[in-house]
Amino acid sequence: MSGEIKWYRVPVDEVLTLLDTDEDGITAEEAQIRLSKYGFNEVEVKKKESSLHRFARQFASPLIYVLLAASLVTFILEEYADMAVILGVVLANAVIGFIQERKAENALESLAKMLVPETSILRDGQRMIIHSRELVAGDIVLLEAGNRIPADLRLMYVKNLRIDESMLTGESTAVEKNIDPIETKSLPLAEQKNIAFGGTLVTQGNGLGIVVATGSESEIGKISELISKTKKISTPLVRTIDQMAKKLAVVILGLAILTFIIGRLRGFDDLDIFFASVSLAVAAIPEGLPALITISLAFGIKRMASRNAIIRTMPAVESLGSATVICSDKTGTLTKNEMTIRNIYTLEGKFDVTGVGYTTEGDFELQGKKIDPLGHPALMETLKAGALCNDAYLKEEGGIDGDPTEGALLVSASKAGKFYMQRVDTIPFESEERYMATLHQDDEKNSWIYVKGSPEKLIELCSHQFNGKELSSIDPENFLTAAEDMASDGLRVIATAYRKLEQGKDEIEEEDTKDLIFLGLQGMIDPPREEVKRSIFKCNNAGIRVIMITGDHILTGHTIARQLGIRTEGALSGSDIQGMSDEELTEALRTVSVFARTSPEDKSRIVGLLKQEGEVVAVTGDGINDAPALENADIGVAMGKSGTEVAKDASDMVLADDNFASIVNAVEEGRNVYSKIQKVILWTLPTNAAEGLAVLAAVILGLNNPPLLPLHILWINTITALGLGVSITMEPMEKKLLNRPPRPPKEPLLLPVIKQRIVTVALLMVTATFLLYFFEMIQNGRDSNTAQTIALNTIVFFEIFYLFNCKSIYENVFKELFSNKFMLMGIALVLSLQVFITYNPTMNAILKTSPIEPVDWLVIGVTASSVFFLIELEKYVKKKRKIN
Ligand code: ADP
Ligand code: MG
Repeated sequence: MSGEIKWYRVPVDEVLTLLDTDEDGITAEEAQIRLSKYGFNEVEVKKKESSLHRFARQFASPLIYVLLAASLVTFILEEYADMAVILGVVLANAVIGFIQERKAENALESLAKMLVPETSILRDGQRMIIHSRELVAGDIVLLEAGNRIPADLRLMYVKNLRIDESMLTGESTAVEKNIDPIETKSLPLAEQKNIAFGGTLVTQGNGLGIVVATGSESEIGKISELISKTKKISTPLVRTIDQMAKKLAVVILGLAILTFIIGRLRGFDDLDIFFASVSLAVAAIPEGLPALITISLAFGIKRMASRNAIIRTMPAVESLGSATVICSDKTGTLTKNEMTIRNIYTLEGKFDVTGVGYTTEGDFELQGKKIDPLGHPALMETLKAGALCNDAYLKEEGGIDGDPTEGALLVSASKAGKFYMQRVDTIPFESEERYMATLHQDDEKNSWIYVKGSPEKLIELCSHQFNGKELSSIDPENFLTAAEDMASDGLRVIATAYRKLEQGKDEIEEEDTKDLIFLGLQGMIDPPREEVKRSIFKCNNAGIRVIMITGDHILTGHTIARQLGIRTEGALSGSDIQGMSDEELTEALRTVSVFARTSPEDKSRIVGLLKQEGEVVAVTGDGINDAPALENADIGVAMGKSGTEVAKDASDMVLADDNFASIVNAVEEGRNVYSKIQKVILWTLPTNAAEGLAVLAAVILGLNNPPLLPLHILWINTITALGLGVSITMEPMEKKLLNRPPRPPKEPLLLPVIKQRIVTVALLMVTATFLLYFFEMIQNGRDSNTAQTIALNTIVFFEIFYLFNCKSIYENVFKELFSNKFMLMGIALVLSLQVFITYNPTMNAILKTSPIEPVDWLVIGVTASSVFFLIELEKYVKKKRKIN
């Protein structure tokens, strides 16, 4: 439809005609037709990697090369059984890697789908919100500060509209837009001032635009490679582990070479010692570790998403686990954002407003008696101001659309009657200015300005007051006291004012918002969210501080904080902290947890100072101006529902439900992920060390007939990684996770306890297995194959028992032994494989195993269980000691 038209050259009415639309937009039916004809407003993402390619990539690792070389050697020597085992190991490794990667990726993909952008448009003259992908050419889009432009638009109305086009043009200052056609044959994007390009961000003002190009037709669609950045799981932790794994690999390869040399010196057969060295390397290198970590992170991200916290940047998953402070907005995050006006104060008295929620039934009472609002002109004007200076609307089916604060004002007004007057201009609400103004005209072109905002701000703007009969000079103290009175009840207070302007006035100028007439105050309740109380209790237990940073009144903030159980010594306002030096504020931050009437800069400063003190800070934000604080924080949290695209862009995590409780859930999941990763390491490193040590010890002891053949080692390493290691990533969350203080950010990944386990567990496993082997050979006169089969099973059993120990690093696990069904399934799998290779004649031939007696299993079980009891005893003793 758009063809090659240069839209910036076309005047607005012609654009409308060309696209067969008008100021009211197209009809819903027409939209449907266009959608099926021209497709969704989506930019094609880069083609995904094919499964085959991904599978092939799994073979690209040094370890696999070593194994492939080894299999080649066996092939040349016609040792086909050995070759089969080695190739089996190679294949198993690739399959595990393949599946894990796919799982991790799927988790991320479903995440991307959760952040569907929405757009306000006009269709059939009706304002509605749709998914941006359903936009079609001819749609009329409403723009306001904080929006992301959903498609290429030819602007038809602008009011101070400024757009950040840096993602398209690289130009970092926002561009001021207009609607005038430009008569030039060709014009760079940056100079097309009457076009708003898809993907760019509105930083200021508002406007209306006609969709002229969607999806791949749009400018950003044409350069789609730029934005289809593939997300990969990479966090500081993943990198640390990668590095650790690489270092370990080098050390172990060195050990393997050393083993080879020692073996040669001891006169082992070349080939035997070659295989021994290879198996040592393969067993001891924790090659699967990075993949296991990645998958733990991916699952964690997925679980967070199911609990309404959508992760945007990977490192946030980790930082969440060590968060020490959460700075939160009040309205909507800590409270329900379901506002209901309770009190109205005018010079005629303090009225009570009855009725619940957004239903329009309710009355006005003065001193407990129902009154007729019509008999109270100041009350009527206050209600009218609230209704006119308002962008929300009451839906026919009940409820409101728009800002709940404004919705509440509409509802209170509707209890007194209908207020309407044509609006001709607007100054939108901004959190820094704390007021909104609208200009209205009646049929005779008489014009009035109506203003609403915070009481302090409006008192600044007013010179007079209205008592229902006449005007007089304003008495600020009176209104401020009344406002404080309401705020200390936890009410959110909105003041209203107005003034008549000269006839025919249709644009607000600066002096119009001065010398206003103060009308009254409306106080609304915004009940705290029930679940937030529990979350704050959890935070207090978990050593996480909760700080409220609000734009609302200090008394309102303080009262709500008290109701929620936030621990604070008093409260500070934005002007208080602006007068403080960084040192003073840092000092205050130790005890004060409520900050009110703050500006976004105050928020950013608080976050910065907390970080300087070594805190790991999560901070919420929704407005455009919150972006610096969100970027500055360790974890920037944007509101999914009420947040602007700008805030979401700057954030690390988006809350689908705007709920504080979801942050705390995410912190819990973050801790959970980290503790799982530690458990994976806790199990992997000691068992790998044991497998390696078994080879090393045999060589050093000069055992011609080692308890475990290289093939056995390869077998053990593969099946235990597959059946046991993976299952730790599925461990259910530990109950006591939130009863501990946050993990120190500098805590090493290799906890002392892990290092110590590597030594004790490896030594115990190898010593016990070797002793059993010798005992069976010497004492019981078993042949070496049988004794080896017993040794092989013993190592596997050891790993199974030790797996149970790893269910918790510090706590005894007796009560939760069977809590992880994946672990039980994995163990069942490993056990059946062991039975299979012990009794199946073909496997006996391949792995040189031989059937064992039933009583042998008992001996193996008892021997291997030693690790379980020993480690649990150690945990118990350590805990006891710490308590005493
Ligand atoms: P918060 O979200 O932390 O409660 P806001 O910045 O939304 O803070 O609001 C700060 C103050 O601005 C409120 O206490 C209220 O007095 C005023 N206010 C809030 N919303 C509006 C609005 N839509 N129009 C005019 N004033 C408003
Ligand atoms: Mg707000």
